Order: sequence, then structure tokens, then C-alpha cells
Amino acid sequence: MYWEKDIETIDRRKLEELQLSRLKDTLAHAQRSYYYGKIFQEKGINADSIRSLSDVQKIPFTTKDDLRENWPYGFIAVSKDELVRMHSSSGTTGRATVIFHTANDVAVWTNLLARCMFMAGMRKSDVFQNMMTYGLFTGGLGFHYGAEKIGALVIPAGAGNSKRQIQLMRDFATTAVHVIPSYALHLSTVFEELKLDPRKDTSVKIAFLGAEPHTEKMRRKIEEIYGYKAFNSYGLSEMNGPGVAFECPYQDGMHIWEDSFLVEIVDPKTLQPVADGEEGELVMTSLQKKGMPLIRYRTKDLTRIIPGTCACGRTHRRLERFKGRTDDMLILKGVNIFPMQIEKKLMDIEGVGTNFLIILNREGYNDNMTVKVEVSRDYFSGDIKQLEKLRKKIVEELKGELLITPKIELVESDSIPKGDGKAVRVIDNRKD
Ligand code: ADP
Ligand code: ZN
Repeated sequence: MYWEKDIETIDRRKLEELQLSRLKDTLAHAQRSYYYGKIFQEKGINADSIRSLSDVQKIPFTTKDDLRENWPYGFIAVSKDELVRMHSSSGTTGRATVIFHTANDVAVWTNLLARCMFMAGMRKSDVFQNMMTYGLFTGGLGFHYGAEKIGALVIPAGAGNSKRQIQLMRDFATTAVHVIPSYALHLSTVFEELKLDPRKDTSVKIAFLGAEPHTEKMRRKIEEIYGYKAFNSYGLSEMNGPGVAFECPYQDGMHIWEDSFLVEIVDPKTLQPVADGEEGELVMTSLQKKGMPLIRYRTKDLTRIIPGTCACGRTHRRLERFKGRTDDMLILKGVNIFPMQIEKKLMDIEGVGTNFLIILNREGYNDNMTVKVEVSRDYFSGDIKQLEKLRKKIVEELKGELLITPKIELVESDSIPKGDGKAVRVIDNRKD
């Protein structure tokens, strides 16, 4: 059983006591690393500086740039002999950062993932196909270990090779998958090409969607196409990888495992804590990592804590679906735009296909935005007037949402290049 009832439904007061003792242990341990050793000495901080959880605010934030500047071993808090695994981030926003784990770190991480998958309904009897890249990326091995711990039969399919994915799914009656949401949509066009209906021609009941931001509409669209239940899965390599926060059967926010991570939400500009339930940047402190503990790590991911309790009985608080990263925010003619706002609108419009791309250009002193939108197959081969109507509708909808008028280019289904990894949503040609 990976329903760890005692810890998952722990009384909040007890949970906070556990967090406080783990936070003090983490500090005492982290000071062995070159980086925290130096910072703590400079600031006169040690485990005794922490009397309550909010005392964590006495410690400076850690950023991705700190990890890059102290690359590769500046954050290691054990001797190198004790390390058994290295992973790295995907490098979405610059040089990839590396993360190291002890055997116990891997065991804790595996357990968290087993907890997540069990929560969403995966069992020993399931056949689990992991469609994520195996290797440095955490989505492959992370889920693989967790699923094996539950005792499911794991098919380590890896990413890409869509026709083989479909073949595996059908030959071995896959019941659960782990997939990047933009890839799930892309894969649906391959089913279409093969004249197969995933609802009828596969047995998948559960999907874990992770690694990139996606809207509720996109989730529902994926669920509708495949006829399975899709659960949002959040994680980042700096905090192990997947298994940080995950949806329960109520699909209303992701429980963040607070026995392993101390959560803060801060205003990304002032870096001050926001009021309860308000949106801001997620900051996390690892409470169980020994190889490479991280304190007040700024994720740059925007979310909020959903107030109130969850009907499933778990007491770990829930994070709302991520709006994106602070780095994703585009500023066009003084207006702040997140790619997810565009996705949210597009997913609602009939005739829109599975992918889109935002292109920003500068002409003289004027910036403009073009959105390439894939159109579903039957729409594209249809009447030209219908297409023009669709184009106008998209312009109207996006104008209403963004308050600027984008140029819309309708393109054929599956014509925007899609790799195996995280979707590229924006091409900004304005940079010098
Ligand atoms: P990189 O930071 O280079 O992309 P990672 O592979 O560590 O490398 O990816 C972690 C990041 O992926 C998170 O910080 C977040 O921005 C994004 N991410 C992962 N899962 C989700 C999710 N379910 N929803 C939104 N964003 C996600
Ligand atoms: Zn719940």
C-alpha cells in the first residue's frame, strides 16, 4: 500500500512540528556544503537561528543562477562517495543545472512518486507506459522507480517514436501513461492518421500530465480525446523532479508533500510573502534531501495555495494549476501576457487543432504578435469561408483576453514542429 495514511492525513499542527524539526536538521546538514557554509557564516546563521517555521525568512533565497555559479559541486553536502545519481534540469531557461542524490534521497523520491501515483488510482495490476525521456531528465527514471515500487508492470518506452508508442499501448494493453501534455495532443493526431480512436482502441484509464504548464481546458481536451482521467503532476529537478505536487481524485489543485518540502509563496518583485491564498512565486526548501539540500529555492513558477481543505482527507495543502513561469511573461506594447492565457482561449474554440506558436516581431518601433494556430484536419480541408470565420473568431477572442490585436495565421494540423520534450510556445525575434 502506498496510501501513507498517517503522514498524508497528519494533523496540521503535527505536520508543522515535523517540518520545524526537519528544517533545523536540513540547516545543520546544509552548512557542510561549500555554498551554504559560506552564506551561513556571512549571515551568522545556524540551526539555532530557527525557532519557528517563519524564521526560514532569515535565510537568503537560492536561485538557479546560484546553482549555475557554483556548478557542479558547490551545493553538495555529503562526501562524493555517498552520491549515487545525477540528474539535470531540462535547460528551458538557460544552462541546465545539475542535481545529485544519495541512495536515501532516491528512496525518498521514489516513495513520494509511489504516493502520488497511488493517490491518482494506480495499482499493482496496472501496466504503466512511461513516455518521458530517460536519462538526465527526471521524468523518466523518477516515475519509473515510483511505478515499480507500487508493483505495476513498467514499459520504459521513453519519449517520441509515436507509432511505436501506440503499438506498445495496444500490444500490452497499457492502462496508465506518463506524458507531456503537448505530446499527448500531438500523439492524438498520429492516432487520427492511423485511423484509430484512442477511446476504443486502447485501454488507458489514467494519465499523468507533467513537465510543462497547461490549462484546465487543455487537460479536459486531452481527457475527452483519450477517454481517460488525466492528473496534473508538478515537480522540478532541483526538488528531485516529479513527485513534488500531484492531483488527487478530486482534481482540484495539487497536494504538495509538505513533509518533504517547506512552501512559501512570495511576491516575485518585492520577494515578500503574499497574503494567504494570493498568487505569487513558489519558493521551496527541501526537508529530506541530503546529497544536495536547497533552502528557499526560487522556482520562478507562479501559483497560489488553494484555501480550505480537500474532500479526499489529505491535509497537505493544494497548489493551484501553474500559470507559467515568471520568465514566460511577455511584454508587448506595455501589456503583460502569459502564453497560458492564449492557450486557455484557443482550447475553447471549435476547429482549433492541437498546437500553437506565438511569434513576436519588431518593425521600426512597433512590436507585433503573430499566433500560428493549427486547425483540426476536417476544418482545414473544408470551406475557405469557414476558415476565415474561424480566423476572425480567434482574433476577437484573443483581443478580448489580451487587449491587443494579434495577427492570426491558420496552419495545417501537425505542421508546427514538435520535439519530444517540452513545447516551445514563443519565438521572440525582438531581441537584438
Ligand atoms: P527546467 O527548469 O530547465 O525546465 P526541469 O526539468 O527541472 O527543468 O523542469 C521543471 C519546471 O517545469 C518547473 O519549474 C515548471 O516550470 C515546469 N513544470 C513541471 N511540471 C509542471 C506542471 N505540472 N505545470 C506547470 N509547470 C510545470
Ligand atoms: Zn485531495
